[in-house]
Amino acid sequence: MKIKARLWEELEDHKVKCQVCANRCVVLPGKVGICRTRKNFNGEFYTLIYGSLISSGSLDPIEKKPLYNFWPGATAYSIASIGCSFKCQNCQNWSISQANPSDNGKDGTYDLAGLGNRSMSLIEMTPEELVKKVIRSGAKTLAYTYNEPLIWHEWIIDTTRLLKKENIKTILVTNGYSTPEATKELIDVGIDAANIDIKSMSDEFYKKICGVKSVKPVLDTAKEFVLKGIHVEITNLIIPDLNDSEDEIKELSNWILKNLGKDTPLHFSAYHPDFKAPSEKSTPYDTLNLAFEIAKRIGLNFVYVGNIQHNKGSNTYCPNCSHLILGRSGYRFTKIDIKDDHKCPNCNYDLSKAIKGEINRHPSHRFF
Ligand code: SF4
Ligand code: SF4
Repeated sequence: MKIKARLWEELEDHKVKCQVCANRCVVLPGKVGICRTRKNFNGEFYTLIYGSLISSGSLDPIEKKPLYNFWPGATAYSIASIGCSFKCQNCQNWSISQANPSDNGKDGTYDLAGLGNRSMSLIEMTPEELVKKVIRSGAKTLAYTYNEPLIWHEWIIDTTRLLKKENIKTILVTNGYSTPEATKELIDVGIDAANIDIKSMSDEFYKKICGVKSVKPVLDTAKEFVLKGIHVEITNLIIPDLNDSEDEIKELSNWILKNLGKDTPLHFSAYHPDFKAPSEKSTPYDTLNLAFEIAKRIGLNFVYVGNIQHNKGSNTYCPNCSHLILGRSGYRFTKIDIKDDHKCPNCNYDLSKAIKGEINRHPSHRFF
C-alpha cells in the first residue's frame, strides 16, 4: 500500500533525501531508495509497503527472535514485509529482504538476484485489522521481523500506537541502521524491545558483506534505545574467517559492557552458508564456545549461543550465584526456577531489572 512517507526533505530538481535509515538515500524523481520500498513521485516521497505483509502473521516463541530476557516464554505474533536497507551476502531471508514491491502479484515468473524464479503475493492490511488479529491470537507481544523493520517506519509507528492501547508489547528485530530522527520517533511512540544485530565491529565488514558504510549508526541506535529504557538484546552472527577472531569478539563484548551494560544479553549465533555464502564453512562449535567464554570472562551476565546445541548457551543463570534460573532446550523451557518477584531462589539476588515482564510458565507454542 502506498502512502506519503515520513522523515524526508525535498532537494533541488524534485530530488528527495530520505532520513529513515542511515543510508540517507538521495532519490531522483521516478526512482526508489536502496531498500526499493520508498519512491520519489515528482518530488513527493512515498513508502510502497505500508500495511503490505508477506503473510497475515505467525505465532513464534519470543525466544526465536531471539529475546531471552524479555517476557520469557511469551508468544510473539510475528509479521514481516519486504525489502531491507542492507544487502547482506549471507541473508537467510533474501527472498523477502531483496524483493521488489513491483514484483507483487507475479507468480513464479520473476528472477531475484539470479537465484531462480519466485512468486510473491503481499497481503494488505490496516493497522486496526492487524491489532484485531493479534488480540484474537492471544499473543501479548508483536514482533516486526524477518525483513528489516526500520524501513517499515510509518506502519510501525501507526500499529505500535494502537498496540500500546491494548497493552501488547512491540518488538523490533533489526539491523539497527537507523537515524537519530527515526530512532526518536520509535522511542516516542513506545517501542518496548529490540534485538539488534551487531554484525561486526568493523566498517570493512559492513562495507564488504552488508553493502553499507559503517557500524556506527547501529551502535548509536543500540545506545539510544538502552538510554531511553527500551529492552535491548544483541545478536552477533559469527561467520568463519570474516568476523570470528578473538580480538573482534573481545571488542564487541567490551563495547557492550561499557555502553549498554553488563545485563544486556548477547546472543552468539552459528552461521550456515546461505544466499551468496560469503564463507563456505558453518561456524564450528569451538568458535562459539570460545566466544561464549570470552564474553562471560569480560563480564557480561547473560551470554547465549544459538543455531547450534551448546550445553550452557541456551540457559539463563543467576549472575550472582550461577543458579540455573531458566533452562532451555531449543525454544522450550526445561526448568523454571525463579521467584515471582524475579529474585533468585538460591541467593535472593534481584533479577527484576535484568529479566523483564512476566514469565509464561506454560507456553502454548511447545510444538515449535
Ligand atoms: S529507508 Fe533507508 S534505504 Fe530506504 S530509501 Fe530511506 S534511506 Fe534509503
Ligand atoms: S540486514 Fe538482515 S534482512 Fe537485511 S539483508 Fe542483512 S541479514 Fe538480510
